[in-house]
Amino acid sequence: MSTTATDVTTSHADSGGTDWDPIFDEVGLPKDVNNIYTQTVASMLNAAEIVNLRHRVRIILAQPKNEIMVHFPVRMDDGHHKLFKGYRVQHNNAVGPYKGGLRFHEHVHLDDVKSLAFLMTMKCALVRVPFGGGKGGVKCNPRELSPGELERVTRRFTAAIANDIGPDYDIPAPDVGTNSQVMAWIADTYAAMAGRSSTNPFAVVTGKPISIGGSLGREKATGQGVVDVLLEMLPDLNIPIEDMRVSIQGFGNVGSWAGKILADLGANITAVQDHTGCVRNPEGLDVHALSEHVAQTGGVKGFENKANTGGSSRHSGKGCEVISVDEFWETPVDVFIPAALEGMLNEQRAHQLRARVVAEAANAPTTPEADAVLASRGIEVIPDMLCNAGGVTVSYFEWVQNRSNVIWDVEQVDRELNRIMCAATRRVIMAKQKYSTTLRTAAYISVLEHIGDIYNHRGIWP
Ligand code: GLU
Repeated sequence: MSTTATDVTTSHADSGGTDWDPIFDEVGLPKDVNNIYTQTVASMLNAAEIVNLRHRVRIILAQPKNEIMVHFPVRMDDGHHKLFKGYRVQHNNAVGPYKGGLRFHEHVHLDDVKSLAFLMTMKCALVRVPFGGGKGGVKCNPRELSPGELERVTRRFTAAIANDIGPDYDIPAPDVGTNSQVMAWIADTYAAMAGRSSTNPFAVVTGKPISIGGSLGREKATGQGVVDVLLEMLPDLNIPIEDMRVSIQGFGNVGSWAGKILADLGANITAVQDHTGCVRNPEGLDVHALSEHVAQTGGVKGFENKANTGGSSRHSGKGCEVISVDEFWETPVDVFIPAALEGMLNEQRAHQLRARVVAEAANAPTTPEADAVLASRGIEVIPDMLCNAGGVTVSYFEWVQNRSNVIWDVEQVDRELNRIMCAATRRVIMAKQKYSTTLRTAAYISVLEHIGDIYNHRGIWP
C-alpha cells in the first residue's frame, strides 16, 4: 500500500481504529488520533511503507529507547521547597549520541517530549549530522521563577539526570523557555559532578555562551536555517524573495531571527503574532525594532505605540496596526512561518490561512487534520525536520569545535550551515519528485532510507 501522510491521518481521524497500522498494537501505542506521539509515529510508518522499511527498524523507531522521568525538590526564594517534574527522552542513537533540546514550560508532558525526541532523530538523520534524537524538559513556568530559582531548578535537574547525559552519550541544548545561560549552568553543574572522569565536560551541552565554548552563529542558527531552506526552495515554488510577504507566529529566538534575516534580504514581514497580541503593517514591519521591543517588554503588544513616533513607514514601524487573531490568520502572504509551539496550526486555522507556503520553524506546529486541509488547498508545507534543522546543525558544529579545541569564525559557521541545509533541501525535493508525495513524507523517506541503511550495516546485537 502506498499512501501519503495525509491519507493515513485522515483515515485515522474517522476510522474508529479499523485501519491502524498493526505496529501500534505490537509496540503498545495508544490508537488515539489526538495523541501527539501517535500522530508522529503514524506519519513515519506511512513513509516506512513507501520505502519498504524493514519491520525491525519500524518497531525500533516506533518507541523511544529510554524515557527518563525525575522528581526533584527545589528551595524557592521564600524558603519553602517545591517539587518539580523533569523528563529526558532518548529516542534513538543508531546514528550517534542522543541530541536535542531542553524545554522549560508549564505544559511539558511525556507524550510531547517523546514526539519532540522522535523528531530530533528524524531531523539529525535528514541533515546527516552524526547524532540521534533526544528531548527533555521541566514542567515549570520560567517567567514565574526568579533568576535564583531558575538557576536552582536547572542545577538540580542536571544533578538528577547527570548519569544519563554526557558529551559522548546525550547532549542537551536550548529549546522553548531555556537559553544560553541555562546551558551554562548545566555545563558547570555537570563539569563539577564529572570531576576528572571527563576530558571535555563542557561539550555535554550546546548553545552555550560564546565565552564558555558556545559557537558563533548558534543563536541565530535556527532562523538562519529557515531562510537557507526557503531560499533554496523559492525558485521551485516560483516566489521571488524581493517583497515576498511573510507572516510569523511566535517572535522568540527563532521567529525574530528568521524575520530579521528575511527582512534584510528584501522580504516584507507583514504580520506577527505572539502570546501578547498581533501586529500588522502591509508595507512591512520594522522587525529589528520589533525584536528590540519584544526583548524589552516580553511581547509584541504595545509596539504600535512606539511605531507611531515618526520616520518612514518601512523603518519606524509607522503604519503598524493592532489586529485580531482571526485577522492575523487571514492576512494574505506568500509565506507563513509558525515559530511557536506544537499544534498551533489546526484545522480551523488551515482553512483561514491565506498563504502559498508554510515554513515550519517550530516543531510539529501543524496538526494532521490541518496538514490534510493545506494539502487539499495546494499550500506547500516545508516540514519542521528540514525547516528548523539549522539549530541542531550549528549545535553539531559547536560540539565539533569543543572536542577538537578549535574556534570557527562566523563566516565558516554560516557557510557550512548553508551547505548542509541546501543539501538536505535538495534531498527532500528529489524524494518528493521520485515518490510524488508531500514534502513531509519525502523528508521521512530520506530519513528512513538513511537510518535503514545504518541498521542494515550495524545489525542488531545481541
Ligand atoms: N531545540 C532545538 C531543536 O528543536 C535545538 C536542538 C539542539 O541543538 O540539539 O531543534
